[in-house]
Amino acid sequence: MEKKKLGGLLLALWLAVLPLYGAMCFADTADDKRAELNDVRQRMERMQTRKEQARRKAESASAELSEVMGSLNELQAQANNLQKKSDALQGKINDNQAKLEKKQQEMQERMLIYRKRLRDIYINGQINYLDVLLGAKDFSDFSSRMYLLQKIISRDLELLEKLKQDAAEINSRKEQLAAEMKEIKATQTELEAKKAKVNKLREQRAYMLYKAQEEEQSSQEEYERLLAISENIASMLRNMENAGGGAPAGQGGTGQFMWPCNGPITSYYGWRTHPIFGTTKYHSGMDIAVDSGTPIHAADSGTIVYSGWLGGYGNCVMIDHGGGLVTLYAHNSALNVGEGQYVSKGTVVAYAGSTGYSTGPHCHFEVRLHGELTEPLNYLP
Ligand SMILES: [Zn+2]
Repeated sequence: MEKKKLGGLLLALWLAVLPLYGAMCFADTADDKRAELNDVRQRMERMQTRKEQARRKAESASAELSEVMGSLNELQAQANNLQKKSDALQGKINDNQAKLEKKQQEMQERMLIYRKRLRDIYINGQINYLDVLLGAKDFSDFSSRMYLLQKIISRDLELLEKLKQDAAEINSRKEQLAAEMKEIKATQTELEAKKAKVNKLREQRAYMLYKAQEEEQSSQEEYERLLAISENIASMLRNMENAGGGAPAGQGGTGQFMWPCNGPITSYYGWRTHPIFGTTKYHSGMDIAVDSGTPIHAADSGTIVYSGWLGGYGNCVMIDHGGGLVTLYAHNSALNVGEGQYVSKGTVVAYAGSTGYSTGPHCHFEVRLHGELTEPLNYLP
């Protein structure tokens, strides 16, 4: 319970940049602090500018995006309109086809009747002719019947001719409709290509907007971080003035760091660019890849100010080396020291692991000077 409370308090101090701690242990002169404050304020100004630039970028990306969306909507409306036309035309084509089929059916029926009649007249003609030749019936009866049949046949032929004309008309209409449909399909294809292009543009603009917004966000976060630091330095300055000068340094280290473990550096300290998205994020320390269980050594002598679970850091150790210098070792599988314990340089303080926000076993090594993150490589041999 007591330990948990202390851990929470230390975490808060760590994040809020240790104002009281600073007053107790920092050996710097007020002048140093003022210079530091100046530096932080300048960085804050730069971050404000960066944020403002990102905000303007996001604004123009947003405007461009809505413009693209507008033309996309317009193209979609055109496509819908075209589809309606195509549907109506398809209806006409279907109607026409039905008419054509009906006409063809009629023609076939007519043709059957006509052929039957041709057969009849031929057969009848032959019989009657023989009848006449044989004198069985009179000639006028025969010729009037022949005349009648011929009349009927010529009417059949007229009807057939008319049907043929109708069919030809329907056929030419069919061709015309097919040509119209072909034109609509071509326009549709063209429109689809345009839409695909604009869609690609939309994706690009949306991505630009996303990036600009993320940049704005990260600048804001960095600005807030710097703000907290500047406020703390200011408060340290006030404390120093109240105490009548800098406090003496605590039981400190040698000032010469050693590497906490040996392994390849997989991520460096500072602004890192994401390999895929191209976005930038602040990395608070450096990552040294080692196997799980590898001993983690104190980079320098000092007092353990934290040993326990610390959120995303997982199992974490912090060592105060005096003079406002603190080191942190995160993501350990096990811890080997207790708070308040004095360790000499090289002491095994923990064993490496992948606890907290970590994708694989490594040692996340952080260095803070007066509560502010700094480049660990500057302290390592
Ligand atoms: Zn890290």
